[in-house]
Amino acid sequence: MRNLKSTTLIFELSKKGRRGAHLPACDVGGPSAAELLPAEALAAEPPPLPEVAEPEVVRHFTNLSTLNMSVDTHFYPLGSCTMKYNSKRNERIAGLPGLADLHPYQPESTLQGILQLFHELQQYFGEISGLPAVSLQPAAGAHGELTALMVAAAHFRKLGQKRTKILAPDSAHGTNPASAKMAGFEFVTVKSLPTGNVDMDDLRSKLDDTVAVFMITNPNTLGMFDKTVGEIANLVHSFGGLIYLDGANMNAILGIARPGDFGADMMHYNPHKTFSGPHGGGGPGAGPICVTETLRPYLPCPVVEKTDGQYRLVYDKPDSIGRVRSFFGNVGVLIRAYCYIRTHGPDGLKRVSETAVLNANYLLSKVKHFLPVPQGARCMHEFVASGLTLKKSKGISAMDVAKRLLDYGFHAPTVYFPLTVPEAMMIEPTETESKETLDSFAEVLFRITEESGELLHEAPHTTPISRPDEVRAARQPVIKWTPAAT
Ligand SMILES: *Cc1c(COP(=O)(O)O)cnc(C)c1O
Repeated sequence: MRNLKSTTLIFELSKKGRRGAHLPACDVGGPSAAELLPAEALAAEPPPLPEVAEPEVVRHFTNLSTLNMSVDTHFYPLGSCTMKYNSKRNERIAGLPGLADLHPYQPESTLQGILQLFHELQQYFGEISGLPAVSLQPAAGAHGELTALMVAAAHFRKLGQKRTKILAPDSAHGTNPASAKMAGFEFVTVKSLPTGNVDMDDLRSKLDDTVAVFMITNPNTLGMFDKTVGEIANLVHSFGGLIYLDGANMNAILGIARPGDFGADMMHYNPHKTFSGPHGGGGPGAGPICVTETLRPYLPCPVVEKTDGQYRLVYDKPDSIGRVRSFFGNVGVLIRAYCYIRTHGPDGLKRVSETAVLNANYLLSKVKHFLPVPQGARCMHEFVASGLTLKKSKGISAMDVAKRLLDYGFHAPTVYFPLTVPEAMMIEPTETESKETLDSFAEVLFRITEESGELLHEAPHTTPISRPDEVRAARQPVIKWTPAAT
């Protein structure tokens, strides 16, 4: 099954003098490059690019594209990431010339359509979150966290309060501490209880008037809704601190619970998780943030406002933290989010979350009989199974199971996160999967737990490369191709 051809580099396909297209000689007069540029700026040799014919280029990249697993090719239950199927309709709309061909330097009067879309999207995000003041600028969830923490810092500066700390539970996504550090704060971890809920006693012991923000992910990474969130918010507020909701898990509560109503002062969305933005491969995401009216003055500029029937990009905000992204943010992702929200409507969005939660609970009810799920009575959009007994009885790790799933045509779940569950496998099926897909995934997962250790330690067996040596890849990365000596 090993596809050797697929690992050939396009540089290795190169044949001297081969061309993708042969253009006729230029027959219009004018100065040559040698006449226009100083001699020292001219290269002596053309760059050593691959010389290949058009069909070779097309086949090379088309074949490469089939090596990846994607939502369009495989079930992708990657917990915390919400890898749902994204409707092609939204792709088509984002690609319409009237949207895709806009230029950010066009006069505002000719950008009224896209500005209206932004303005309405701000309102929708505000309505869904219960936090009315919105910035569409941040370029990813992590960037939204950073932006909101900068907003919080500006707020406390304005109040003349010196607050130096950000708190978050030990189950928090790695971007939470990273954002806190980037925004210039000290980061302090708060313990979680075995239930996944925040340990209130530990939180209380760490709260004082130097704490700026408590960051919470709710539903949390165990797929549980922390019902103490209101109590937590009251406690943090009583010390003058703010609550940040990491909104990566909004797919579980759209139209059902609003962060602004359960105590959050700020949050981000991941439109590439929840609102049908393409996701993965390092492509563009977005991280729009929503904050309370109190924090509105500090939002990044420009904001889109409507005055006298005209949509305007407003830069004149004296307390604003300034720009965090060139132009208007990742517009294509925002357009898809707009289409997603408009085509579902309020009832449809609620049904998205209800179905996502139903699908996760259905899968949980099958999986927990052969893989223990420590918090497995019920879940929200995802659940975390533990491979600990499998490890102890047969020496099979969560990594072995994850790798073996690839042989069966399923993307692996998120493994070893959260750190609070040993041999964690975090499974999030999303609402776009059928009962048949969930059934066959559960069946394959069961079959894998029955397989032999030898088979599993070497898996995957059907992919172009099996298991890279992760330590060597990190310590001695080979990231440059060197042609063989001729
Ligand atoms: C995905 C995720 C983030 C970060 O979002 P990016 O868009 O990848 O930067 C933050 N927190 C949680 C819980 C997440 O799942």
